[in-house]
Amino acid sequence: MTKLRLAGMEPLTTVEWPGRLAAVLFFQGCPWRCRYCHNAGLVRARAANLKPWAEAMEFLRQRQGFLDSVILSGGEPLFQPRLLEAAEKVRALGYDVALHTNGYDPEHLARLLASGFVQMVSMDVKAPFNGYERVTRRPDSGDAARRSVEIVLASGVPYEFRTTYHQDLLSAQDLRTIAADLHALGAQTYYLQAYRDEGSPDMALQLSPVGTLDPVLVVGIRRLFPTFGLRGFSAVG
Ligand code: SF4
Repeated sequence: MTKLRLAGMEPLTTVEWPGRLAAVLFFQGCPWRCRYCHNAGLVRARAANLKPWAEAMEFLRQRQGFLDSVILSGGEPLFQPRLLEAAEKVRALGYDVALHTNGYDPEHLARLLASGFVQMVSMDVKAPFNGYERVTRRPDSGDAARRSVEIVLASGVPYEFRTTYHQDLLSAQDLRTIAADLHALGAQTYYLQAYRDEGSPDMALQLSPVGTLDPVLVVGIRRLFPTFGLRGFSAVG
C-alpha cells in the first residue's frame, strides 16, 4: 500500500487556524507548479528525509490536551492516496482536522469531506477558472478547481476560499472575475492574500512588487461576501 509521504511538521501555530492551537502536517508532492509557490521544496512527489508517519502520530499523542487541532497541508495533501486514513487517525486522537488544498482532485476531496473527518477546509482559488494554467502551469486545472469549489460548498463543512495576489500573475479584472464566479457559485467566505517571497523560487516575481489593490476594487469584492478579508497587504490604493 502507498505510504503517506510526510515531509515535515510545525508543532504549533495560532495563525493558520485562527482561534485554534494547531499543529501542521506538511505532505510531500503537488501536481501543479505555481510560480509563487512558497513551499517549492514540497512539490516534487519524491524527496529524501521524509518523516515516518508513526513519528507524527506519537507527537500528536503527546500533545493531547495541549493542542486542539491539526492542519493537513503541503505540497498538496490530496496528492496522498491515503489521506482519508490519515485524517481518520488524527481525528481518532480527538483533534479537529483542517485541510489546506488546491482542489486539484475533486473526487478525492469529495470522499474526504463526506467522511466527517474534516472540520474545516481552506481552498486556494488561484485565477479565473478559464485562465488557471497561467498560475498553475497545468492544463485543465481550472475545471478541477471549479468542481472542487462546488464540492466544498455542497459539503456543509466550514470553509474559506482564498486567492494569492501578485500583479504579474493576476489583473484587477482577474480578481473581479474570481470574486464574481465564487459569488455566483454561492461562496460566503473569501480572502485575498498578498504574495510572499519567502521560499519562492521565482526570482522575477521576487524582484517585482506585489502591487497595491485599488480600494474601489476591494469595496466591490467585499460587497459580494458576508465574510471577506485582506491578508498580508501593506497598502491598499
Ligand atoms: S498548488 Fe500550492 S503547493 Fe502546489 S505548486 Fe501551487 S502553491 Fe505550490
